[in-house]
Amino acid sequence: MTNNASLLARRNAAVPRGVASATPLFADRAENAEIWDVDGQRYVDFAGGIAVLNVGHLHPKVVAAVQTQLTRFSHTSFQVVGYEGYVELAERLNKLAPFDAPAKTILFTTGAEATENAVKIARAATGRNGIIAFTGAFHGRSALTGALTGKVMPYKWQFGPSLPDIFHVPFPNPLTGVTVADSLKALDFLFAADVHPHGVAAIVIEPVQGEGGFNAAPVELLQALRKICDEYGIMLVSDEVQAGFGRTGTMFGIEHSGVEPDLVAIAKSLAGGFPLSGVIGKAEIMDKVEPGGLGGTYGGSPIGCAAALAVLDIIEEEKLLDRATALGARIAARINGWATRNDLAPVSQAHGLGAMIGFDLLDPADRSRPLVNGAKAVVTKALDKGLIVLSCGTKSETVRILVPITASDALVDEGLDMLEAALAV
Ligand code: PMP
Repeated sequence: MTNNASLLARRNAAVPRGVASATPLFADRAENAEIWDVDGQRYVDFAGGIAVLNVGHLHPKVVAAVQTQLTRFSHTSFQVVGYEGYVELAERLNKLAPFDAPAKTILFTTGAEATENAVKIARAATGRNGIIAFTGAFHGRSALTGALTGKVMPYKWQFGPSLPDIFHVPFPNPLTGVTVADSLKALDFLFAADVHPHGVAAIVIEPVQGEGGFNAAPVELLQALRKICDEYGIMLVSDEVQAGFGRTGTMFGIEHSGVEPDLVAIAKSLAGGFPLSGVIGKAEIMDKVEPGGLGGTYGGSPIGCAAALAVLDIIEEEKLLDRATALGARIAARINGWATRNDLAPVSQAHGLGAMIGFDLLDPADRSRPLVNGAKAVVTKALDKGLIVLSCGTKSETVRILVPITASDALVDEGLDMLEAALAV
């Protein structure tokens, strides 16, 4: 019989441990912010396939767009025979670019490809090698983006030497006691000790660290980085793979700061569940790479492009930017209530931006410290109550909420009730 238990046994025998799964569930079907597993159990989905489903599972407009595309062709490779969907999506993304200069967009398949290609473009445009990222950052698992990711376990451990010319400075976070001044001081030390700023091609930053714990990059940090980039001709790359497409209440997370990046890495919620990613960048920078230097067989697949065009329509028509802001405020109010209670496990106030929101489990003996692995236990208990929700944070201390922005208040409240029950001591 096919059920969760039998599939888990087959999975464990057939699939290596290296790809970890947050739940032992196997999906049967899904709709908007709900998933039913093969045992017939219903779950509220606060994970959204790891930030991929801002418009929910199987939004009817995404389904219709993909079905229509499938009556025409599924794949030609844009590098062989072009198609309008790719060009139209690039045009629309160029209009949405969070900077004033003329833009161009190239499409890929995964988030790692997006960040990796942003680095390649920055290196080609500057003729330099150095790349600076932040501790706690997540930019992917490929050899280059794994090196860029600011967390050793489990992303670098076991995988041999890192790549040269990739550096990390501490990301500001009240819980670790790192201030913006500390980060900038570390950058100064780095420039003195390891790499001259004229040897740096790019500074890569998430406007809200995702895997690192749903911490927004302080505006003063982004402003200071922009100034340094302008002074030394360094490209500022905003990794919007997790924060993009309305999650934070603006189309891209960096828009909250008013700081304009030179390159933007996009993926996840871009295409409502279909594998599609890209880099949006200032046209003069994007055109520095010679033909053939960028791309990939599947990059910008016609199905992904059709889905993404529908996603952009949905964000506009359903006013999902405003909805993300309202949803974030609703969730934050609930979390902030939990932070004051004694009958629940101790938690921090909500942090993040818009509907990219989370909270930390705190050490009961010292509430100024995060509880190492604290979120993992809560997430497991929440699953028992019928809620799929993910942990994150450099110490697995953060519970992050990535519910589809299209979810109703009632469904979100139902999920929050389950989460509250999971926090009960
Ligand atoms: N950048 C960020 C900010 C991410 O959150 C992720 C995925 N969690 C990636 C890059 C890599 O994306 P992918 O897993 O699609 O390669």
